[in-house]
Amino acid sequence: MTSRMPAIILLGPPGAGKGTQAKKLEDRFGLVQLSTGDLLRDAVARQSDAGKAAQAVMEAGELVGDDIVIAILNERISAPDCLAGVILDGFPRTTLQAEALDALLRERGDRVDCAISLEVDDEAMIDRISGRYTCDRCGEGYHERYKRPLKDGACDKCGCQKFRRRADDNADTVRRRLVAYHAETADLVEHYDEMGVLAHVDAMQDIDSVQGLLRDLVQPLVTEALGTREAMDVSA
Ligand code: ADP
Ligand code: AMP
Repeated sequence: MTSRMPAIILLGPPGAGKGTQAKKLEDRFGLVQLSTGDLLRDAVARQSDAGKAAQAVMEAGELVGDDIVIAILNERISAPDCLAGVILDGFPRTTLQAEALDALLRERGDRVDCAISLEVDDEAMIDRISGRYTCDRCGEGYHERYKRPLKDGACDKCGCQKFRRRADDNADTVRRRLVAYHAETADLVEHYDEMGVLAHVDAMQDIDSVQGLLRDLVQPLVTEALGTREAMDVSA
């Protein structure tokens, strides 16, 4: 059976380009980007209970506890806008999270349609993270060399002239995030391979070329899910 809600996962180390590509897929296909990193940063900014518990762990470049992250993801994915389909970026990061996601989707009659592994080498990852910054107002992402605003000093999307860097994008923390990735997350590729939904993408290419490869993978999934949805509407 085809999923009613397409669910696509972007896997890859910090700095691979998951957020950049997820936003573009969101714009192109009307899917909803679900970044647990963004959700956690928002929780920290609001100083919610989850945010308070996560803050020091994130600053240290370690993984936030599964219970906290799964609860945050569960709440967000249950919102009505996600019925359009979701692109998960930064989740799951552990086997327990992957199993929780499988169970959560199964309960709704959905499943993971595709897990796309963005492949970059460690050097590129560090280079990408060290030049990363975002618009302070709308969160649009930039890079000092690879993605500069069209007009110097102003965000392409909202015109804001204030930008910021993430507190955890420093050399020490990046090293620890990379260790956490290899220890906890890299094995998930096998989990999705066994499920028969894994795809690999060479993410060493420039942003638009990677986006082209991803669109080729995502387009048929969205078309298929829309077809199923229309069929359900007709028979309802
Ligand atoms: P992730 O979400 O995987 O941590 P981001 O999407 O935030 O990674 O990308 C990290 C940085 O690298 C950003 O500054 C982004 O502009 C830049 N970037 C993303 N993809 C590419 C690419 N294919 N080539 C060069 N730079 C890229
Ligand atoms: P990201 O924005 O994906 O680079 O995540 C930033 C930080 O948030 C990570 O280094 C972790 O501390 C935390 N985080 C984000 N997603 C998860 C997750 N799925 N599981 C555990 N920790 C996470």
